[in-house]
Amino acid sequence: MNKDIITVTSPLLPDLNDFHAELQKIWDSKWITNNGAYHKKLEGALAEYLGVPYVSLFTNGTLPLITALQALRITGEVITTPYSFVATTHALWWNGIKPVFVDIDPATGNIDPDKVEAAITPKTTAIMPVHVYGKPCDTQRIQEIADRYGLKVIYDAAHAFGVKVNGESILNAGDMSTLSFHATKVYNTIEGGAMIMHDEKIKQRIDYLKNFGFANETTIMGPGINSKMDEVRAAYGLLTLKQVDSAIEARHQVAVAYRNALREVEGITFFDDMPGVTHNYSYFPIFVDTKKYGMSRDELYFHMKSQNVYGRRYFYPLISEFSTYRGLESAKPENLPKAHQMANSVICLPMHHALTENDIQRTIECIIK
Ligand SMILES: *Cc1c(COP(=O)(O)O)cnc(C)c1O
Repeated sequence: MNKDIITVTSPLLPDLNDFHAELQKIWDSKWITNNGAYHKKLEGALAEYLGVPYVSLFTNGTLPLITALQALRITGEVITTPYSFVATTHALWWNGIKPVFVDIDPATGNIDPDKVEAAITPKTTAIMPVHVYGKPCDTQRIQEIADRYGLKVIYDAAHAFGVKVNGESILNAGDMSTLSFHATKVYNTIEGGAMIMHDEKIKQRIDYLKNFGFANETTIMGPGINSKMDEVRAAYGLLTLKQVDSAIEARHQVAVAYRNALREVEGITFFDDMPGVTHNYSYFPIFVDTKKYGMSRDELYFHMKSQNVYGRRYFYPLISEFSTYRGLESAKPENLPKAHQMANSVICLPMHHALTENDIQRTIECIIK
């Protein structure tokens, strides 16, 4: 058997000749950062591709979260999920905001709206949900709650690139959404990210904030930061954008193959496509029921690893288990039973556009005994 390592993810890379031709143009122009031609072009191309009104490009997916909280002047307490990548909660911490964790809905892995409502206090100013694995949150219920209590909603949509619900972009929900274009994501600019907003004025404000707050040569409109994407990454991103549809379709076929092979495996469960939701193939998590499967999640995870099939325990541990956050009242395990159960049973299988039939087969064979 071929024992080459099968990685959990693999970046979408532009053709080197194409990239070189773009680099030549950047070199000729000598404009390498600060809202150059490629930056503007990629913002426009992404807005069109994603079906959203405004995009502001960032150097990564964490800074738009931090900047969104700053721009909306969020303070006090923000209700969020422990079942995410640490950056979600770190963004709150960097703004001096107290994260309040609530439990998830095991049907999706997303924040449970009933739990959100129960956690609201007079100090609550916003909700920061995550579309986990790109599965859309219950955006309608979350908005109803936010409207009733006068709260802002910022979605960490790092996993939801291109995801649509009944033809409409999930990124149009809430006050703002943020994306990550890190190398491990469906669409990448090596490092990169974006903020999605509905309003031209907010787009202007964010564009100032990501450039130290400069509104013009002599005016600072607020405590800005430096988080603007450079021209080289924007040019790279214009090239990977051309490939992303076929990459998502390749991921779709991987998901179909995994589901067909694993549906009858006792003790292994996974998500099916949600009705009306498209382009949602950023991850393929499976959940291991130790008793029914006869092996624990970690036993299976390390067995896969011994066969050079690299999964990822994503998300494990929960954010609320890290020492930075463990002391919070809302981080107590008894407050978050569903999130703990998911974190203790999940393995994300290899999922990317470059998996071969043989890779998929080897992954499946590790799981089917
Ligand atoms: C990847 C990711 C981020 C952070 O993005 P970076 O581009 O790595 O800074 C934030 N939130 C979630 C849910 C992510 O998966």
